[in-house]
Amino acid sequence: MSEINLGITADMHVHLRDGAMSKLITPTVRSGGISICYVMPNLVPPITTKQQVINYHKQLNDIAPETTFLMSFYLSKDLTPELISECADEGLIHGIKCYPAGVTTNSKYGVDPNDFSQFYPLFEVMEKKGIILNLHGEKPGIEEKDEINIINAESKFLPALRKLHSDFPKLKIILEHTTTSEAIELVRELNSDKKEGDDITIGATITAHHLYLIIDNWASNPINYCKPVAKFHKDKKALIDAATSGEPWFFFGSDSAPHPIHKKQVHVDVCAGVYTQCNSVAYVAEIFDKYNKIENFKKFISDNGIKFYDLNEKILAKHKGESVWLIERENKVPEVIANGDVEVVPFKAGDELKYIVEWRKN
Ligand SMILES: [Zn+2]
Repeated sequence: MSEINLGITADMHVHLRDGAMSKLITPTVRSGGISICYVMPNLVPPITTKQQVINYHKQLNDIAPETTFLMSFYLSKDLTPELISECADEGLIHGIKCYPAGVTTNSKYGVDPNDFSQFYPLFEVMEKKGIILNLHGEKPGIEEKDEINIINAESKFLPALRKLHSDFPKLKIILEHTTTSEAIELVRELNSDKKEGDDITIGATITAHHLYLIIDNWASNPINYCKPVAKFHKDKKALIDAATSGEPWFFFGSDSAPHPIHKKQVHVDVCAGVYTQCNSVAYVAEIFDKYNKIENFKKFISDNGIKFYDLNEKILAKHKGESVWLIERENKVPEVIANGDVEVVPFKAGDELKYIVEWRKN
């Protein structure tokens, strides 16, 4: 099949930054083939007030009015149950992102995953209002004896996910950018009692780049370095198997996270993040094609995420007049994308991809 209608597409984990970087990157959500995206709140300062949500949404919408931006709060002590309730009722936020302190870009304001109990009053409101808890699932190492490092930080976090689900079985939780076979197994286990038509409360996003990379690919190339880091062959295999399976708890979240090239080409403190937005759909399609699972592609890149987020007709109506089409045609990834103020090197820069996207009126 050389053309597939993907309908309305969704990328449920994007970093669109601020200032000149935001102006460069935000339009590439659409050019990469995505209709609706869920925006991360890790700006400086992080997004923790209603006015910040309103301002950031307006800023993004002014840059790219055809895209739908779903907004989030940054989990912190500044949030209150009343604030969450009010913003949920007004449809301003869809989720709250939890960053364990110190694990990735701008996460110094984050929380200690050993003790989520201080946030339980917030989780109660979120559970009631259908607001999603988005977890960056890595456990920070506090002391050497914890024996936590970038390879095992995700696996060590998984007991915290298990506990949260058991304490709040109706709270929708997403384990973001899963990178290990252990995480995939746990998400399947926590959903093992689900029957067709049941509400799903535990989901997992999978990025484009983790379907390609293992540890060897970033150890010598800072462009491929991100958090959580890509792991081993068995993990990549588990991610590909999960993404292409069509199972409703696995869906696309690119975690596209641009950094200016001068912050990647350094010898110390290389910024973690892979930028994939400009070809997000094409990168993933290539994997589905390679493993002969293209028939499940629409579930991963569209249906499963939209269903998990329970997006209403009002949100979807904006996109009903057009569709994203996946076309089999050579597509060269640019070496760099730039706007005079900032330069970003995309994932697989200079490579030929097998697919490209087109927007067509219905
Ligand atoms: Zn992220």
